[in-house]
Amino acid sequence: MDVTVNKPACVGAGQCALVAGELFDQDDDGIVIMLKPTIGPSDEATVRRAATLCPARAIRIAE
Ligand code: SF4
Repeated sequence: MDVTVNKPACVGAGQCALVAGELFDQDDDGIVIMLKPTIGPSDEATVRRAATLCPARAIRIAE
């Protein structure tokens, strides 16, 4: 799984950090930060949940 975040699209809603705080954080402006450079199998379900909840569709998943 290849995960990228589209920072310009991020609106700082914080859903990703809320449901996947070990994978996503927000900077001082509320913009998403990825905390892990690679996503392992054990994190895939959590990433999918965060991507689904992101109102800006700023979390992109490539299989
Ligand atoms: S849920 Fe989406 S819009 Fe909100 S901080 Fe995360 S990436 Fe940005």
